[in-house]
Amino acid sequence: MLAERATTEGGQAVSDELSSTTVTQSVPVVDMPRAEWSRYHDPEGALYAINPVKGTWCLLSAEEQGKLASAGKYVRALLSCPHCAHTGIVPGSFDVPMDNGHGKPNADFQCQACGLVCRLVLRRWDTRKLFCAAYETRAGETIAAHKEYLHAVDLEEAQKFFWSQHTPILEVTKLVGIAPVVGFHVPDGKNDRKLIV
Ligand SMILES: [Zn+2]
Repeated sequence: MLAERATTEGGQAVSDELSSTTVTQSVPVVDMPRAEWSRYHDPEGALYAINPVKGTWCLLSAEEQGKLASAGKYVRALLSCPHCAHTGIVPGSFDVPMDNGHGKPNADFQCQACGLVCRLVLRRWDTRKLFCAAYETRAGETIAAHKEYLHAVDLEEAQKFFWSQHTPILEVTKLVGIAPVVGFHVPDGKNDRKLIV
């Protein structure tokens, strides 16, 4: 168990615990929408106060995460208990639910302030879209068509990602195109996550 507590000027005390303990599957599932909480920064850009929205979670920016990390605090996001609004942090070590907003419960949650135990659906954690790349390869005289699915924030990132995985001309003789796809990949259900705040 990891416990960390920090009180920020004008803000709320935040704490987190993370455990890999297996929990029962019979706990209720609670939808946790993503929200942009008001956040206040010092002149150096470090986060010093927050204005949480009950029952939502807020992803910190890369700059905010970086500033906290340089102070020895590894925080990826903040969340507010849906029952009592107690604020907790999602630690940097949290196994990020990269299921693209699929809606599957992706964190076991326990609030130490009110005792609520549930499974959270952290909505819109992963805002990447699904793209499909259509391309051709050649083996001798034979041309084969392929499709490959990948997640990326935008088309530019999808193209970069595709070419980081494939060699032009030698392997991929023709990239027919990359286009957004409506839908999500089926997430990997093997990961077990638990958040205690
Ligand atoms: Zn609570």
